[in-house]
Amino acid sequence: MATVVKGLCQGCGICLQICPRKAISINSAQAVIDPQICDDCEECVFACPNGAISG
Ligand code: SF4
Ligand code: SF4
Repeated sequence: MATVVKGLCQGCGICLQICPRKAISINSAQAVIDPQICDDCEECVFACPNGAISG
């Protein structure tokens, strides 16, 4: 399951825009993935410029 690595996320919001399921939100400048909505497509893993999401 795609997870945000704390400390690497810069809160840029790129993953929010790329997620086909709109499973990502930003809270306190950190991306948060809703596991109930995420279907593990891993598009966000490749989209994050900081390597902050591990698949
Ligand atoms: S693309 Fe990466 S750095 Fe940007 S908000 Fe998403 S997880 Fe954070
Ligand atoms: S793995 Fe896919 S569905 Fe899950 S948060 Fe990332 S882009 Fe969205």
